[in-house]
Amino acid sequence: MHLSRLTLRHFRNLGTQDLELPPEGVAIIGDNAQGKSNLLEAIYYLETFRSFRGARDDQLVAFGEGVFRVTGELVAVDGSEQPAAQVAAAYEKKGKRKKVTVDGVEPERVGDALGRVAAVVFSPADVELVSGGPSVRRRYLDIVLSLSAPGYLHALQEFRKILVRRNAALKDGQPGAVVMAWDHGLVRSGAAVVEARRDWVQSRCRAFDEYYSAVSGGVGARMAYRSSVHLDGARGEQDIAEAYRDALVASSEREQRNGTTVVGPHRDDVVLRLEDEGDDLDLRDYGSGGQRRTAALALRLVEARTIRETRGREPMILLDDVFAELDGGRSERVLGLMEREETGQVVLTAPKEGDIRIRRDALPRWRIADGRVAA
Ligand code: ATP
Ligand code: MG
Repeated sequence: MHLSRLTLRHFRNLGTQDLELPPEGVAIIGDNAQGKSNLLEAIYYLETFRSFRGARDDQLVAFGEGVFRVTGELVAVDGSEQPAAQVAAAYEKKGKRKKVTVDGVEPERVGDALGRVAAVVFSPADVELVSGGPSVRRRYLDIVLSLSAPGYLHALQEFRKILVRRNAALKDGQPGAVVMAWDHGLVRSGAAVVEARRDWVQSRCRAFDEYYSAVSGGVGARMAYRSSVHLDGARGEQDIAEAYRDALVASSEREQRNGTTVVGPHRDDVVLRLEDEGDDLDLRDYGSGGQRRTAALALRLVEARTIRETRGREPMILLDDVFAELDGGRSERVLGLMEREETGQVVLTAPKEGDIRIRRDALPRWRIADGRVAA
């Protein structure tokens, strides 16, 4: 499967354009602020129906316009001309309305349309995955798992809904019984979220380590799920639910004092550590810029691998000028990895021709200026 056609209307500065993308992908060259990241943002919007840069939908509508629309056509790699799927998304600023369709049909929930493009974005801002606060890493897990684990998104949404109500009760100083009325649902949905996250992190820890050392050319790194609920010995969802219930009981005084729920998946984190001559250093606190970028790349590579494993498709790789900040050795090794791993279509952006390092001769060059793409 690859994205064969991308139609844009009033998405950021991209105007109205109809682009035909080659199956192998394309390298897009343009000066700063011409629309390179905007274009990748538009493509990835069809994967998650959100901005990968964390922008609100209304910010994606071109200045002075009321609605944006992005449409993508995905076709089978074997070259059959028949579009295998069409994914479209539109957002209307005034009514704050988002409409998503797959093959012209609006799914019951937007969540049902997620992940059709099977894409991963690599961006310089990814370093935040390592340097940023726990919420950034939770968001990473939530996206990866929403796209790969059946039922995850539903459990997460359920958990969030209940959490909001429970927190409102705590904030209002409602009696314990009112707060506790939410516990059953909170524990059930929360345990499902925690289990999926923990299992994913555990089962991908090895791959993360391998990618990290492949890029660093030396030492490895580890990732571990750190839960605010004590999970020692908790095996399945049932065990986790019990541990969560115990943790709620144990924290009830603290949550009344703080007026909010203090344990659960909304307080969890992924710890990323560097193995350094027997020492175990938290990359967030002790990693150099390059080490953090390497760990962020490794997380994206694990994400791409998850797509390959769970969706049985070669991931589409969107590279937003990512080699700008890595040293020569590291860039070469990342490139080697990306060439070795089975990746599908590649869309990469760079300010200069010389910055194109992947599939150097295989990718056609397009230019972008003032939002207009020209082959
Ligand atoms: P760099 O090389 O610096 O990363 P870039 O080519 O990736 O640059 P983008 O981030 O894609 O640049 O585009 C930035 C441009 O898009 C800016 O000029 C900005 O003003 C414009 N822009 C952003 N949002 C909108 C919008 N909603 N409507 C119109 N233009 C917008
Ligand atoms: Mg950019």
